[in-house]
Amino acid sequence: MSELNLILLGPPGAGKGTQAARLREDFGLPYIGTGDLLREHKQSETELGLAAKSYMDNGDLVPDDLVIAMILDKVEEEGQDGFLLDGFPRTIGQSEALARELEGMGRRLTAALLIEAPDEVVIARLSGRRVCSAGHVYHVEDDPPKHEGVCDQDGKPLTRRKDDEPETIRKRLATYHAQTEPLKDYYEERGLLRRFDGTRDVTEVHDHIRATLATLRLEERL
Ligand code: ADP
Ligand code: AMP
Repeated sequence: MSELNLILLGPPGAGKGTQAARLREDFGLPYIGTGDLLREHKQSETELGLAAKSYMDNGDLVPDDLVIAMILDKVEEEGQDGFLLDGFPRTIGQSEALARELEGMGRRLTAALLIEAPDEVVIARLSGRRVCSAGHVYHVEDDPPKHEGVCDQDGKPLTRRKDDEPETIRKRLATYHAQTEPLKDYYEERGLLRRFDGTRDVTEVHDHIRATLATLRLEERL
């Protein structure tokens, strides 16, 4: 089977984590969720977690040197046969570091999957997002759990993320526009960008991504 080396791009709240959960199942890809990994470090108060905390709580990006080392180690350890990266890269420096790493391994990116949604949509999504401590994601109106406040998958309580407060949401969006949006051109110029309309419902977005990946896989084999 041809290897799928994928990254998910898009503003916070576009639905990257929601789609990643489905794509992991479809393709059996190792999932590397940067935000989840950083939150685990923060929770267990590792050196990296302590260094990252104030940036995350303010809606800023954690500095490149900290994030790049953490993610490239994971790609080497767990992504030998393909990977789905969510939330990395988020700066041009991170994109270049990933490209160098893959080149050094004799590999390359299959595609950058961009899930697009306007600011007003993602603000509404993040305001209603609820998560359990294992990272399962819900929305109070669009994707509610069967029992209010409880995760369907593991029975854990659902809470609002600290950075999903209105002021931090606005900051994270500004950070996205300033630092991560330039990656669209970076991947477009390299012929790797695939765009998806994130305002459609979860199943429609999923179907569209799956169809695109099936085509890419066929093309790789030809
Ligand atoms: P991201 O990982 O891009 O920050 P999430 O996957 O966590 O975004 O989704 C943000 C919120 O929007 C969650 O509450 C999720 O349930 C909801 N959501 C995700 N995709 C959709 C969709 N296509 N339509 C409506 N709500 C969605
Ligand atoms: P997320 O769960 O993807 O919304 O990420 C939550 C927070 O983690 C972000 O607001 C950043 O503070 C930090 N973070 C996640 N990914 C990165 C990255 N690639 N580079 C820098 N900071 C990141």
